[in-house]
Amino acid sequence: MNFTVTILGSGAALPTLNRMPSSQYINCNNRHFLIDCAEGTQVQLRKYKVHFQKISHIFISHLHGDHYFGLVGLLSSMSLLGREKEIHLFGPPELEGILKTQLEYGGSRLSFKINFHSLSFHAKEKIHEDDVLEVYSFPLKHKVPTCGFLIKEKPKLLKIDSDKLKDKNIEIEHYKMLQNGQDIQLENGTLYRYQEFTLPPHPPMSYAYCSDTKKDLKIPEFIENCTVLYHEATFLKKDKSIANSTMHSTTIDAANIASLGKVKSLYVGHLSSRYRSDEQHLLELKEVFKNSNVAYDGLIIDLFKQ
Ligand SMILES: [Zn+2]
Repeated sequence: MNFTVTILGSGAALPTLNRMPSSQYINCNNRHFLIDCAEGTQVQLRKYKVHFQKISHIFISHLHGDHYFGLVGLLSSMSLLGREKEIHLFGPPELEGILKTQLEYGGSRLSFKINFHSLSFHAKEKIHEDDVLEVYSFPLKHKVPTCGFLIKEKPKLLKIDSDKLKDKNIEIEHYKMLQNGQDIQLENGTLYRYQEFTLPPHPPMSYAYCSDTKKDLKIPEFIENCTVLYHEATFLKKDKSIANSTMHSTTIDAANIASLGKVKSLYVGHLSSRYRSDEQHLLELKEVFKNSNVAYDGLIIDLFKQ
């Protein structure tokens, strides 16, 4: 089992040598997702050794350039490298037409199919599901329609207590039954109760992404108890008035949301390029929420280690 988030871009609108704009790669039990795809994302994927043809789902939060200007480039490279596997793309409804126009004027055709899914910006919605996880979108408060995303593992199977199964005459197919909470009756009448041979599973983990948004007290309900919250903190508290006018958050806003949402760990990103270092960010965050971290490009967040 694995659940990691690789931060590809932790900066705000202006790319700098230290921080590229928003993008992140998620590997949840070998499902490969990309959230946002700013300029330079394909280079960041190479830099941090992510094989980008594995990505099956791309989620675009909103149509500000620092969240999707790298998308047509990434899709074109996937095509040049001969991708055949379809890709699922989630984003604001206008994104489909934007991509079509970008490709059409160059006479380009992709070698694979895009399944486009329009996001809605009114309520929390389940937008994707498979055997092991669910993905939800939820509305944020920004200058243009914007969604956050929540990736949640489904409840897991019970763990086999192998010490207790030693020397027991149990066939391999019985393991699955025990893991599913079923008892086993052998042909000779012996009954094995699943409680005796299993341990509780690791609790399901979840990851929430909130960029960009002003402080919104609905967010804690949408992401409650999640393992890791990535929230934007574009500004320090002294720049609260700029945060208000641009509909972004400060460090204090992000830490408040983490605290109200009872999350395990907070990571902030989308840091404005006006700040030379992130030391002050960390101090301000920890005033409100102890388990706070400042994200950086190349950081790998392991949800099992929070
Ligand atoms: Zn924005």
